[in-house]
Amino acid sequence: MSDTATTAPAKAPLTAADRCDRCGAAAKVRATLPAGGELLFCGHHYNAHEARLVEMGAIVE
Ligand SMILES: [Zn+2]
Repeated sequence: MSDTATTAPAKAPLTAADRCDRCGAAAKVRATLPAGGELLFCGHHYNAHEARLVEMGAIVE
């Protein structure tokens, strides 16, 4: 059975062109905010901001 057309992801995966919003390193994580907008983080800055992102209800990919 094929249902490939039902739930295609709206977002492209992170690429080498995606950079951390804080330091400009290669982004490892995209955090989508429930209010709209998204932030990109490298591993270091994701760890630094993870608690805050969870608090805001961000969806982390
Ligand atoms: Zn960073």
